[in-house]
Amino acid sequence: MNVMRILAGAAGAALLAATLGCARRHTEAPGPHIDPAIAHAIGGIWAVDNHAHPVLAPPLDTTDRGFDALPVSSMAPESDPVALRPDYPLLAVAWKALYGLDATPPLDAAGLARLHALQEQAKTKHGENYPAWVLDQAHIGTELGNRVFMGRGVEPPRFRWVPYVDALLFPLDNRGLAAANPDRQQFFALEDQLRARYLKDAGLSAPPATLDAYLQRVVTPTLERQKAGGAVAEKFEVAYLRGFDFIDPPHAQAAAIYARWARGGTPDPAQYKLLQDFLFRYIAGECGRLGMPVHLHGMAGAGGYFGIAGVNPLLLEPIFNDPRLRRTNFVLLHGGWPYVREVGALLQKPNVYLDISSQDLLFPPHTEAQWLREWLEFEPDKVLFGTDGYPYSDGMGWAESVWMANRDARQALGIALTGMVRDGEISRNRAIEIARLVLRGNAERLYHFTSEH
Ligand SMILES: [Zn+2]
Repeated sequence: MNVMRILAGAAGAALLAATLGCARRHTEAPGPHIDPAIAHAIGGIWAVDNHAHPVLAPPLDTTDRGFDALPVSSMAPESDPVALRPDYPLLAVAWKALYGLDATPPLDAAGLARLHALQEQAKTKHGENYPAWVLDQAHIGTELGNRVFMGRGVEPPRFRWVPYVDALLFPLDNRGLAAANPDRQQFFALEDQLRARYLKDAGLSAPPATLDAYLQRVVTPTLERQKAGGAVAEKFEVAYLRGFDFIDPPHAQAAAIYARWARGGTPDPAQYKLLQDFLFRYIAGECGRLGMPVHLHGMAGAGGYFGIAGVNPLLLEPIFNDPRLRRTNFVLLHGGWPYVREVGALLQKPNVYLDISSQDLLFPPHTEAQWLREWLEFEPDKVLFGTDGYPYSDGMGWAESVWMANRDARQALGIALTGMVRDGEISRNRAIEIARLVLRGNAERLYHFTSEH
């Protein structure tokens, strides 16, 4: 069955609406109640995926490592969330929809071989268009690709670039920070490599001796080069490296700290933090000047060592409230969980947005719909759809995770909006308008582009 062709027409909306209505079939529980007109409308909207990690088209897919500056695959063991386990029931629905595979997770070796064979068939059939074909299956017109670099099949207009900027925050010797735990050990080594790449691109082999030279010859040119290369936003995954408690040290103090350790030596941790704090504000200001929103990983992250207290979005309030940064728009990725109330309150600031990527993968629609409804009742113009599709494992690659998060996100949206209509808060027409804002309109306004399709 050519799902893409079916989805492309009016029948596609009906098909996706049917999928929305039939809910978690795999558990044989009753599906969520979604108003049929709202489900139909949601199923027909070509979305902008605010955040994902697409993998390059074949044959580069097998060796591509550009999908994340800090890949989660080699982190120290954690208790895996249910949705990321190999027996997660929704995987069966995704395999069936994408490749026609009938199988029950977890897959044994033979099942995995069948899945791989079908994935290869689809890749061979679609070739360079395979990444775009994956978007078609989820009714996603444009996906923001959070990658170190873009490449074959992952290019505009279907994909827009969001590069990483954390490496610029840590210009000194990072061995002291890396010693904190095994995850930071590998992460700082990767950040050092990426910073070396940014220095090389700036024509340097080592950081300049002064802070002003570092800002003018490395930081600003890197951001400008990325913007010229198609970047529509900049991404910080700094929450994997330190907390959000950025204070506002004076330039002279930051310059003295930089000059003291730029040529080597392990910096004093408290002093080094002040330099990072200064650099964060500088980078955020430059992003505002260049018209690139700042993306922040904003929920409890992967791994057993992630600092959950440090990702409380209220820690960022002094940044959002800094009049010097009011030209910079910030997008808190992943809806802030567990700080869903805090992140909702921050939407009142004119320069703060959030997306629902990742949480639509990790939480079932009814759960997500609870806090989604609250946000939509409060600031419907500031909430963006996203998937956080990512090559998590053999059975759950970028394609599967995009498909699963997309389906659950649209269901959650349907549940939340149906509840608002049922309770007399909004009309059905307004509900459909809000669905369109969340799925694409808010992103189009924020990034100044029009989604494909
Ligand atoms: Zn991500």
